[in-house]
Amino acid sequence: LVYPADPTRQHRYRSHGQQSTPSIRVMTWNILAQALGEGKDGFVRCPLEALNWTERKYMILEEILTYRPDILCLQEVDHYYDTFQPILASLGYQSKFLAKPWSPCLDVAGNNGPDGCALFYRSVRFSPLHTVHLRLSARLLPTNQVAIVQTLRCRATGKRLCVAVTHLKARSGWERMRSAQGADLLQSLKSITSSLGESGAESGGGTEGLPLIVCGDFNAEPSEDVYRRFISSPLGLDSAYKLLSADGQTEPAYTTWKIRPSGESCGTLDYIWYSHGAFAVDTLLDIPTEEQIGPDRLPSYHYPSDHLSLLCDVSFTDPKDPAH
Ligand code: NDP
Ligand code: CA
Repeated sequence: LVYPADPTRQHRYRSHGQQSTPSIRVMTWNILAQALGEGKDGFVRCPLEALNWTERKYMILEEILTYRPDILCLQEVDHYYDTFQPILASLGYQSKFLAKPWSPCLDVAGNNGPDGCALFYRSVRFSPLHTVHLRLSARLLPTNQVAIVQTLRCRATGKRLCVAVTHLKARSGWERMRSAQGADLLQSLKSITSSLGESGAESGGGTEGLPLIVCGDFNAEPSEDVYRRFISSPLGLDSAYKLLSADGQTEPAYTTWKIRPSGESCGTLDYIWYSHGAFAVDTLLDIPTEEQIGPDRLPSYHYPSDHLSLLCDVSFTDPKDPAH
């Protein structure tokens, strides 16, 4: 059973003003590791048949290809080498993958290897400059979480940017670990974007460093410390999905919604951060309503992961434009 990607999700937000450069479409998605979905998660209201990889992989690919993002950040990827890398390469994407050091997938019988983060970008739009693979630390101690940081050059404009993907430590009780991992990631991003930002005035960032996009499953509500760290960092980041709200200041009510034996869990854990001095957000893909998600929540025959995909179009702001 393969259902089409939800046709009711619409691009809702559009900012004022003229776009000076073609926009960059960014997607982030925790696609639910196959081994975890079948072997560990305990999604009691999701039929096991809905998690069958032979069909679920097409639902994930269909959702990605419905929107054809220029930059695609995935988390919980345990089918990179046999599925996403070859298929997306044939569709014009270059990519990097970084496995978690001790992926919980490896505990599941018949697993397909460790899960990790993957970062894809369309080769026609970007050429790669530099890749950094990070194992995140918490107060100098190495952790089981990773990030990929990729600097890119836009082929059409020559502008450079830096894209990162991460998946922070899950579960309640680990808020301080997430905060420390976020601090470590911000520190790495600062050193990567400032060292590379100085070597070219055309970067759009000049001495302020390269424009940044940071995507991921932060496993943290907006009330958590790690969110505060990101929103108040000297890197000048803001969270794109706040712009979907009426006041422009509020995160969506949820990016994941599931039912385990322990109960229902609904929350906002996934984010697209962007340099607000360098980019404007032009459009955002709507979050499905409670009715669209349905009473059994996620995943389901209609939604292949327990997390929703986030998607936005951003464009470089013109530093000479007084509106920015
Ligand atoms: P995390 O706590 O970050 O979570 C791992 C995965 O579990 C995430 O993908 C998360 O999904 C999912 N998850 C979150 N909440 C639940 C839940 N209530 N029930 C089921 N799954 C959930 O894992 P770590 O990276 O810290 O790794 C922990 C695991 O890794 C251990 O359980 C062990 O299996 C393994 N490990 C093995 C080691 C070894 O020496 N062999 C060493 C270290 C770890 P989401 O992000 O979507 O919430
Ligand atoms: Ca998960």
